[in-house]
Amino acid sequence: MTQEEEIKTAQKILSDFLSLQQMRCTAERDKIVECIYTYNGHFTPDTIYELMKKSFRVSRGTVYNTFEVLVKCNLIVQHHFLNNRVEYEKTTANATHHHRICTKCGEVVEFSDLKIKRAIKNRTFTTFDVDYQTIYLYGICKKCKRKYGLK
Ligand SMILES: [Zn+2]
Ligand SMILES: [Zn+2]
Repeated sequence: MTQEEEIKTAQKILSDFLSLQQMRCTAERDKIVECIYTYNGHFTPDTIYELMKKSFRVSRGTVYNTFEVLVKCNLIVQHHFLNNRVEYEKTTANATHHHRICTKCGEVVEFSDLKIKRAIKNRTFTTFDVDYQTIYLYGICKKCKRKYGLK
């Protein structure tokens, strides 16, 4: 899927979700989806707000509210990293990588693994549908190992 198709698909999912809730799909919400789906990596509502306000009139409140809706319709996923760090990313990105977290410095590194991907895909449940996936591995990074003199 091209990026443009990905944006269109995401906007469709959002508008379908909103009409089910009898909520309006506004130009702002569509623009937020576009901004998120062209952004690579982790972000916060403030990241998107700062990016958008350069070319589009939007309030911080609208961005925050829209994030809640986007989580509910599975377009973005909320990550809780160490030290109460909350970040988001596209659910489509989650199909491709996992996260390695250092418990000393909190550094987050993304990694992918084809074997894990296949294993998850092959794991089906009769009473549960998988929408997206992410694995968090906790441990100590090389820098911290050296810093704390750990073997
Ligand atoms: Zn570390
Ligand atoms: Zn990530």
